[in-house]
Amino acid sequence: MEIVKTQPVLTQHFANLIQQNRLAHAYLLAGEAGAGKKELAVWVAKLLFCEQPSATGPCDHCSECVRIGAHEHPDVVEIAPTGLSIKIDQIRYLKSEFAKSGVEGAQKVFIIEDAEKMSTSAANGLLKFLEEPSGQVTAFLLTSEPNQILPTVISRCQLLELQAPSLTDLVEKFTAVGVAQNQAVLLANLTKDPQQAQELAESEDFQKLLTHLWQWYSAILKNDLMAFVKVQADLVPLVGSRDQQDKLLFMIALLARDLMLYANEPQQQFVFTMFTQDFADKLRNISAAAATEACELVLKKWRLLSFNVSIQNVLESLTLELCSCYHQ
Ligand SMILES: [Zn+2]
Repeated sequence: MEIVKTQPVLTQHFANLIQQNRLAHAYLLAGEAGAGKKELAVWVAKLLFCEQPSATGPCDHCSECVRIGAHEHPDVVEIAPTGLSIKIDQIRYLKSEFAKSGVEGAQKVFIIEDAEKMSTSAANGLLKFLEEPSGQVTAFLLTSEPNQILPTVISRCQLLELQAPSLTDLVEKFTAVGVAQNQAVLLANLTKDPQQAQELAESEDFQKLLTHLWQWYSAILKNDLMAFVKVQADLVPLVGSRDQQDKLLFMIALLARDLMLYANEPQQQFVFTMFTQDFADKLRNISAAAATEACELVLKKWRLLSFNVSIQNVLESLTLELCSCYHQ
């Protein structure tokens, strides 16, 4: 029942609506991956069906709550894109599931994930379904891209936006799915989705990139020109796509920022907690002013990527300029 902690306002809002019997027919829950859209929809479904609800929410252990949690409740149907889109057949499936289950007029809930991926015909089918007075139906459409949803669909829904999760919440969620404590803060800066964080943490390439990033940066901090060689030998082969290149430059910016913070005030929360123990040693001959200037340098070089300068050129010239910046 994590969602009560991460979305206290919205869970309370829905609890009040249910208590006053004022739940609307359709909600569009908008928020980034990891914000808890699905968890919120499932929480509301449980509260609607729970046999022993309390003021704080569903009990989470009665047979209704358990079946909903296991995605086995006949009156709570979930739909997600198959392939690239949600197709009209899936909306038809939804209708048929509801037609065969439950008593006429009984409460039903459906949850559509990535609702922006509904095909136009699926969206039209859904609209018709929402208009048919088939008992007490509550729809949750979930999306991280509300601007890609058809206006006709939005106009039938109440739009609720979920706040992005805080860094502390993310770190807690990531470690709960098995991400190492000393990588959780870094990963929370790269993604808000626990599954993605887990995939990155388990990816051999990502771990290699982390190691090579720190070896490369350590060489720069020693003014060792091996750093220049490491660009082509170690870093470039690990960042083939533009997205990976951007991520690398972002990580370099975060690392330069960590070092600047450390040079100014060593007692802080750092992103690269796995390397913090080496910071004192690596920064021994480096001034706080140089560490600050280095951050600006990284940001300036990062911009070059959007002018189609190759990643190798960007990193090589960054290497030379960082060396002279840290050792002026
Ligand atoms: Zn219950």
